[in-house]
Amino acid sequence: MNLRVGVGYDLHRLAEGRPLMLGGVAVPAERGLAGHSDGDAVAHAVADALLGAAAAGDVGAMFPPDDPRYAGIAGVDILAAARAAIEGRRWRIVNIDVTIVAEWPKLGPHRDAMREAIAGALGIAVDAVGVKAKTNEGLDAIGRGEAIAAHAVALIAREEA
Ligand code: MG
Repeated sequence: MNLRVGVGYDLHRLAEGRPLMLGGVAVPAERGLAGHSDGDAVAHAVADALLGAAAAGDVGAMFPPDDPRYAGIAGVDILAAARAAIEGRRWRIVNIDVTIVAEWPKLGPHRDAMREAIAGALGIAVDAVGVKAKTNEGLDAIGRGEAIAAHAVALIAREEA
């Protein structure tokens, strides 16, 4: 059995008049994440972890932010594209783990919905997706509520040829 691990990171600014999309879930909030896409930093971090594990590039290369075809693209669609890239290289996803850094809002009530949405987009079991949320103790731009960041790791496996 071949195993590979990948790491992903993303950060988006919070802005007025945007839905807050995190891990494929619309979290009720007064502000949301800005971006050319739907701003789903969790989905982008997970996709980068998967692509990194397979040495298959990154989200920015797959979905260039200046390409109008990808305006508003949903995080779950980016996850599905990362899955296709993994599976096209004969890898399967073993598990995903995510840490979200957000001063606000409280994300605990949305944890399981995010796990289900990520698992659904990747075609894996919900118990193969971990999601944790932390604050930044009021420090830096995240602590001031100006941005939300996400860190992810992904493990992938391939049978020996
Ligand atoms: Mg992003």
